[in-house]
Amino acid sequence: MVDIGARRYWVFDLDGTLTRPVHDFAHIRAELELAPNCDILDSLALLPSPQREHKMALLDRLELFYAEKTQPAADVVGLLDALFQRNDRLGILTRNSQPVALQALEVIGARRYFLKEDVLGRDEARPKPDPHGIELLLERWSAKPEEAVMVGDFRYDLEAGRSCGTATVHVDHGTHQPWPELTDLRVTSLTQLLEIL
Ligand SMILES: [Mg+2]
Repeated sequence: MVDIGARRYWVFDLDGTLTRPVHDFAHIRAELELAPNCDILDSLALLPSPQREHKMALLDRLELFYAEKTQPAADVVGLLDALFQRNDRLGILTRNSQPVALQALEVIGARRYFLKEDVLGRDEARPKPDPHGIELLLERWSAKPEEAVMVGDFRYDLEAGRSCGTATVHVDHGTHQPWPELTDLRVTSLTQLLEIL
């Protein structure tokens, strides 16, 4: 049994984890003329130039549009504040761009808990499920995977944590099947996570 509350280094997914899951991926895929259910970043990466650059720029605009409308997950500030008061280190690993992530953090009132360089977007690290971003943060923090937690609402988050050896917390909204083989702790809200600290 992993003692999640004792860990001092926290990497969070952003969309659907610290924010409410309002990102309309179906709308984004339609605007980009991509197949339903495809992986957006992977699909765009396969396009030839200059179509790829054109659609990446459109994706940036769509994401900024959603960042402005983003809503905080319940108790997000309470949780981050509790960790911050303990002097834990906090980072973000998102498949969004860094400017969009910083904007979304601002909108939900959580910007002050994160150093800009600890907010890694798709241009700072290889996208999840690759653990690259977690590895970069742990290296910067001089932390070991056994001291760290990856918190997210999707399997990519949990897979990234698993592959580099951190504990994993699944914030489960009930929209997917749970992934017990990838999960050390499953919670249905950040409130529940706050309670175990
Ligand atoms: Mg997410």
